[in-house]
Amino acid sequence: MDEITSSRSVYVDAHAHLDEYPDTWLGAVLQQLEDDRIATITTAMAPSAYERALRIEERSRWVIATLGVHPWNAHHFVTSLDEIEPSLAESPMFGEIGLDFRNVHDHTLYDAQERVLEFFLCAARDEDKIINLHTSGAELEALELLERYDTRRAIVHWYSGPLEPLRRMVARGYLFTFGCELLSSALIQQIACEIPPTQVLTETDNPGGPQWVFGEPAMPDVVKPVLQALAIIQKRDESDMREQVRQNLLTCIDGDTRLTPLSTMLHGRYV
Ligand SMILES: [Zn+2]
Repeated sequence: MDEITSSRSVYVDAHAHLDEYPDTWLGAVLQQLEDDRIATITTAMAPSAYERALRIEERSRWVIATLGVHPWNAHHFVTSLDEIEPSLAESPMFGEIGLDFRNVHDHTLYDAQERVLEFFLCAARDEDKIINLHTSGAELEALELLERYDTRRAIVHWYSGPLEPLRRMVARGYLFTFGCELLSSALIQQIACEIPPTQVLTETDNPGGPQWVFGEPAMPDVVKPVLQALAIIQKRDESDMREQVRQNLLTCIDGDTRLTPLSTMLHGRYV
């Protein structure tokens, strides 16, 4: 297989949680990444999830693990961020981080969410790293923090908020992931229409995302119908859309040598 042909056949899963699969599933999950050539960013909800993700990364050339503290967990870590600090340097990007004012109803937890997000945004600025961002119900607040910390590169995960902050995020050049809710939600489809082709990515949020949308977890190849739906919405041929998504992530990587393993996956150098 020549490089052009092979590189066009790479899929992108820009936001997953492989550590959340039970051990009994993992062998089949990793085999599918290999068979279907799915370059996968596995984000972490907490440092312990990152540790498990690192062990999974060792088992697959299609996985890159990233450190984060999910906003749902922020209050558990806000007073011990100094313990996370030594692990920051080794993580090639940061995620899953962000704010969630929609699913977290206790307003007393919002301050912890913001402080943890600021901790990671500060590190991302200092180390010039990509972030993988959750914004549910706090889209404007998250955007204002990204502006304050001058965040250069962000992958905005499963955006489902209002259009005004979305347009400001688009103007800042951020990328936006679409997952299985694209198959069923008019709002998500409308958002996908708003975003230029050069700023879209595919994701699964496996296994919890499909669990939330379909009522059961999915295997990594759920990224294929997501890509098909994105192609239809963006009025592109499916193979062109897959190539565009691959190029979009490569452009975001921007030669970042800490992400060379991800670039290698995306260049389709594995045969
Ligand atoms: Zn997630």
